[in-house]
Amino acid sequence: MKTDRTVIVQCRLSSSRLPGKALMDLGGESVLGRVLASMHKVKADYYYVATDEASYEKLLPVCKKYDFECFAGSLEDVLLRFTSLLSTIKTKTVIRATADNPFLFYEAAEESACLFEEKNKGKEGCDYLTYSGLPHGSGVEVFSAEALLKAATETSEPYDHEHVGPALYNHKDRYKCEFIPAPRRYNYPELRTTIDTYSDYLRAVSMIRFLASKNYEAPFTTEQIIEACRSKSVKYPVILVPSVVKGHGTGHLRRCLTAAIESKLFVYIPQDCTLEETKAILQEYYSQGLEKNQIISFIPDESYLPVIITDTFELTENQLSELSKNRSLISIDEGSNYTEYCDYLLDIIPSYKTMRSANKTDSGFITKPENVRQNADAGAKKIEKILVCLGGEDPSSLTIPAVTAFHNKYPESKITAVMTNESDPYIEYAGGTNVEFVKPIEGLREKLYEYDIVVTHYGLTAFEAVYAGCGVILLPTTKLHAKLAEKYNFSYIAGKDFSDEDVKKAVESEKLYGSDFLSNEKKSLGEFLKKLSAGSRMCCPVCGKFPETPDPVVSRNETRTYRRCEACGMVYMSFTTFEDKVYQKAYFFEDYKKQYGKTYEEDFEAIKAQGLRRVGIIKTMTGSGAGTLLDIGCAYGPFLAAASDKKFNPFGTDISEDAVSYIQTKLKMPAVCSAFPEIDTAEEFGIAQFDAVTMWYVIEHFKDLGSVLRKVSSLVKKGGVFAFSTPSGEGISAVSDKDHFYQISPTDHYTIWEPSRAASILKSFGFKVEKIVSTGHHPERFPSIKKCGAQKGSIKWKITDAWSHAKKLGDTVEIYCRKI
Ligand SMILES: [Zn+2]
Repeated sequence: MKTDRTVIVQCRLSSSRLPGKALMDLGGESVLGRVLASMHKVKADYYYVATDEASYEKLLPVCKKYDFECFAGSLEDVLLRFTSLLSTIKTKTVIRATADNPFLFYEAAEESACLFEEKNKGKEGCDYLTYSGLPHGSGVEVFSAEALLKAATETSEPYDHEHVGPALYNHKDRYKCEFIPAPRRYNYPELRTTIDTYSDYLRAVSMIRFLASKNYEAPFTTEQIIEACRSKSVKYPVILVPSVVKGHGTGHLRRCLTAAIESKLFVYIPQDCTLEETKAILQEYYSQGLEKNQIISFIPDESYLPVIITDTFELTENQLSELSKNRSLISIDEGSNYTEYCDYLLDIIPSYKTMRSANKTDSGFITKPENVRQNADAGAKKIEKILVCLGGEDPSSLTIPAVTAFHNKYPESKITAVMTNESDPYIEYAGGTNVEFVKPIEGLREKLYEYDIVVTHYGLTAFEAVYAGCGVILLPTTKLHAKLAEKYNFSYIAGKDFSDEDVKKAVESEKLYGSDFLSNEKKSLGEFLKKLSAGSRMCCPVCGKFPETPDPVVSRNETRTYRRCEACGMVYMSFTTFEDKVYQKAYFFEDYKKQYGKTYEEDFEAIKAQGLRRVGIIKTMTGSGAGTLLDIGCAYGPFLAAASDKKFNPFGTDISEDAVSYIQTKLKMPAVCSAFPEIDTAEEFGIAQFDAVTMWYVIEHFKDLGSVLRKVSSLVKKGGVFAFSTPSGEGISAVSDKDHFYQISPTDHYTIWEPSRAASILKSFGFKVEKIVSTGHHPERFPSIKKCGAQKGSIKWKITDAWSHAKKLGDTVEIYCRKI
């Protein structure tokens, strides 16, 4: 059926920012191909690609494939290109798209074309129409062919000629142009789906990958495109940065490529990469499923911020600073002295250069060899083949002494030694036919199983050889190497003189085949990194901004990193793999029980008793009379009940609707459901300032503590009281085992208060600390009690308890301060 419509897709290959982007690959199709497939869903009589002479030949095959005509016209005068095309055909309505957006909302294009035609049936008519509010770059223009032909003759403005629409909409006195807000289902101005820069291209690649994983078929619907835009894999792109520097070996690159295939991550290989084997290795991984567009040679700009994962041996401070700017930085086996820049440290083969602690240490991520020795642990110590392999470099020149020693000890055995430096005259070694020197062995991991014994130093090969079932003997190049060999239970030869006795001892060691320290579980590094990359980086909740240089790390654990703010002194969670918690009924009735062993309601009376004591302290500060009191995060109201008993006039606020309605109906007290600090108490309660504001175990939950404290300060009358309780960062648990304390700290506690620093932090919000009460005394958490197992009631217990009180070593703390 005739529609009187023509679809024209404007395209050129000479884009200044991203040349040739129309033909770049997007999941097996070109960018242009995807645009054309989408636009073909719009009903029309003719489908054209309007390009320039230079691009014509290259675009023709794509046009043919998608049933589009290809028209070549002026490169710079795009308006002329369009009018030349339009003068060759007879059509009323033109629907124009550009080749930048493979994720066009074709439904919106069709709808806007219908709307345009509808308007032209009426009296007023319409020359130009477009929807506004579509994702950035997703716009499609609909206009009258006749109007454009006329407009082109009337304008000589360069801008009008470089574009198409402006010839009409910049002359609204002559042409009726409408910018209509897109219907809600297309209205996503915050999204960007166009391809203008290299970063945009990476986003598009991520989107196609997501859509393919869902088995959606192109052209994609609006809903599918929106789903892709909002998916984690598109929002948190991950770029692996392996070391591709000569001398670092190929292990880093291989590990990253494997992870990239597993989880469809990007891998950054700079154009000036000096690792000669790179090309061959890439070919190898392409055949295993690596996609070409996973390899990138630029780090995206801030318009599309990836999470960076480095696996580079040792970065400089400048590199770390650059890579961690505005985005999370995760580092694998990072050996530099500047790991404060890293949000997360994963050690697989723990670095031998530093003894710093990592967030996670797990050898289970080592890619295990598929070829494994049979009967390796049968105790058959037949030593027929020995491999001496000291990696790319052998700074301590141990290869020859090792070969000599093993040859002397096992003259009948065949020794293969990897040359460490081709210039060395190893070939002249007089070991006879049983010793051979070879070039670095390609695909060594899968060949290790051929050897009865592998002599190497601390590193990946050592771990792989254990997994392959070989006997492994380490040669400690440095003292640190020796420590690590010890730590990871390797058999090793410590001295450099390689006596017969040393060799014998090492071979006969029960550690020759490694021991149970290695994780045998097969873990996917790609999957782990993918999960990790969805983690969030946070700044100091009090100061609310990221510092120039990273704050010092206080503790790292598997799911979180804690730092101390250098500006205000607060310890805060700076990285977490957990998502935000929603405080609804489940928190009080299930999570609470999990944490404290009884439900919140069951605990009501006990909490209320604590409340009575706290109200007593507040009362001594406010004077004899009782006043107004606001309890923020009041939960089911035990403290409100206590305050009421002590003649205060209490008000409560909480984000749990269920808790608030319980207070209103059961306790019959005023309370509102509201997120703090958004509440307007003057409006809700008719009170702008209170005699006392309290927060019991609430303050640690705020990610925006600075604005919370400012708000609290504005809510307390001058001379009034602000009191709160929170876990103590200086209690016995924190003091005796810091890392364990942070590890078990609830995942939604964003700040850890240390009583000794509270005064200076609160001072900047107008509060003077007047009383600090150390609470939560637990003698059983003292190492001395743990050690001797003293029972409750014993003398030792009582002394410890007294000591805990005297030294304020309680695991929780109450802080009472006055508004100045
Ligand atoms: Zn701070």
